[in-house]
Amino acid sequence: MEKPQDIFGSLVFNFDVMRSRLPKDTYVALQRTMATGKRLPPEVAAVVANAMKDWAIEHGCTHYTHWFQPLTNVTAEKHDSFISLVPGGKVIMEFGAKELIRGESDASSFPSGGLRATFEARGYTAWDPSSYPFIKDHTLCIPTAFCSYDGQALDKKTPLLRSMDALNRQALRILRLFGNYDAQRVTACVGAEQEYFLVDKALYDQRRDLQFTGRTLFGAMPPKAQELSDHYYGSVTQRVKAFMQELNEELWRVGIPAKTEHNEAAPAQHELAPIFESVNIATDHNQLTMDLLRKVALRHGMVCLLHEKPFANINGSGKHNNWSLMTDTGVNLFEPGATPAEDAQFLLFLCAVIKAVDQHADLLRLSVASASNDCRLGGFEAPTPVISIFLGDELTAVLDALENHRTYVKETTADMSVGVHVLPKFPKDVSDRNRTSPFAFTGNKFEFRSLGSSMSLAEPNTVLNTAVADALQGFADVLEKADNFHAACEELVIGTIRQHRRVIFDGNAYSQEWAKEAKARGLLSMQSVADCLHCMVDDKNIALFDRQRVLSESEIRSRQEVRGETYCKVIRIEAQTMLVMTQGEILPAVIDYSKRVLEAAELKQQMLPEMEPVELRLAAKLGTVLQQIVESSDHLRAQVEAMDKKQGWLKQAAFCRSHVLPAMAQLRAACDEAELLSERASWPFPTYGDLLGSV
Ligand code: ADP
Ligand code: MG
Repeated sequence: MEKPQDIFGSLVFNFDVMRSRLPKDTYVALQRTMATGKRLPPEVAAVVANAMKDWAIEHGCTHYTHWFQPLTNVTAEKHDSFISLVPGGKVIMEFGAKELIRGESDASSFPSGGLRATFEARGYTAWDPSSYPFIKDHTLCIPTAFCSYDGQALDKKTPLLRSMDALNRQALRILRLFGNYDAQRVTACVGAEQEYFLVDKALYDQRRDLQFTGRTLFGAMPPKAQELSDHYYGSVTQRVKAFMQELNEELWRVGIPAKTEHNEAAPAQHELAPIFESVNIATDHNQLTMDLLRKVALRHGMVCLLHEKPFANINGSGKHNNWSLMTDTGVNLFEPGATPAEDAQFLLFLCAVIKAVDQHADLLRLSVASASNDCRLGGFEAPTPVISIFLGDELTAVLDALENHRTYVKETTADMSVGVHVLPKFPKDVSDRNRTSPFAFTGNKFEFRSLGSSMSLAEPNTVLNTAVADALQGFADVLEKADNFHAACEELVIGTIRQHRRVIFDGNAYSQEWAKEAKARGLLSMQSVADCLHCMVDDKNIALFDRQRVLSESEIRSRQEVRGETYCKVIRIEAQTMLVMTQGEILPAVIDYSKRVLEAAELKQQMLPEMEPVELRLAAKLGTVLQQIVESSDHLRAQVEAMDKKQGWLKQAAFCRSHVLPAMAQLRAACDEAELLSERASWPFPTYGDLLGSV
């Protein structure tokens, strides 16, 4: 095996490569662009493009692509070769400033939610110089943003970049108020823990539900699944180990700092966590990670399932989003400080997050809502849909004391007020954590745990950045005008705690008591996409995104439409898949088995007339379940037809939730019952037991 330090970043056009390949002034200009987001002058871009092309060709590339993130959960790429014809029928390899900076794309087939009428279907992709170009599959990939000609964002990256700018603007105002003039940029950073399942490819190929929808739509529980907790942190099998090793190497080559890997709680489930990076790069890297997880698994005869709930009744997969704010001088703004002033600053940033999460819990909930994550949230060790914050005993005690102007008991002498150094170091010890909270403070960062495993990091972080920027803006507006800075700071902190205390919850968020309590506190509990999509266009939310210059109203409306349509499409595909599998596979198998049981009963009656034909009892059970299957599938078919007749995604989404999903559950229950009654050898596809122990 090659050494990580030798291969790390070897396929990335990073600072090292730039420094060694670009003239000094070009390198400096490019660095400035990367740091500030300012435009790269065309003559500089031409030099950069040429160096990039030479580098890519040396690494075996023939093509380049603008790599972008449309409003789906996957990335898009269209490859162009570097070749250019010259007289004499020859080609040369060419790549200029124009190709580097801007690409045109007939993007009429990407979801745009009506933003881009088909007669002006072309969008363009623009290089995002804050993320490094890299090589994937012998193709030079240039990370880009994707916009329409009138500048409307058609992708997930553009709003993310805008939200990072908003957060930077407001966070710097606060830092200046505390006398910090060194920091020039505040960056939201994310480390995303990615969960996934691995199943054997040969078994996967026999399941049309996995192929069409990414999850099992049928399957009775095996006698043993995750009950004994013997998979979590368990010894990794040889086959999975070989996969992880190859995956790590591929990730390192493209500059992804893969760090931690282990078996997760459910059988066949695993986790991978990289070292945190700027959220922009972390988002690119997570997309690439998902891509590589799938590709490398295939090379090992396995399929990587990124669906949030590939198997019912065992844990699903999430993507814990560890989020913090870092200055370019290397300070984590959620690291409790060593001086009274640092403490006050910490509390202010903390309060901005509390306020943001309470005020915009609807948007945060929505940002993690999808048909597939709906299957996961609220069950089997996944956060509930109610958004609350866990701060931990110590920090909660500090806030309580502050609110009541009391002395914080752990610190014997200090009188509790903002501006006095009172904060202890908060424990980052894993054992001390509340794992049930959707949004937990974990010592020096926040862990947003509601994200689904197949999601892009972009949307949840766009919301988080924007909401926190907005809270900081409110604070900065007050503080910049204040006569007594410390008093104003204290007032803000205490006022925020009083006003937003309801969102803080340190207990067991999985409990029934919390569900009741949360309701009493007036916290939102939105179970599905269909329940929360409407809030996207609430006045409060349109105003928020507008104020922070992250999304315009038409961009928001288009996104809402895409989300609504996607939800309906996903559920429709699932329902159709169930119908096809029921009709083509399950019914024939059950009918065939019933027939054989009946034949056996008949034979017994002829040959052993003195014995009771117990086969008939089994045949009767099969007969009952067969009837349920036929009736349930007719019912589901009727619901899908009724859904198709509804006008518009809003009504369709509501109908999916109220009628199609329950009909699917009913059909599944009948089929799973049939599986348990039937002969194993003739069941038409691999069972849960087969799949979960397959690698
Ligand atoms: P665990 O939550 O399993 O105990 P860690 O807390 O060490 O593990 O880290 C989980 C993830 O959080 C990793 O991706 C790590 O890089 C990331 N992380 C650690 N510190 C920060 C930070 N300050 N900001 C953002 N992410 C961070
Ligand atoms: Mg963690």
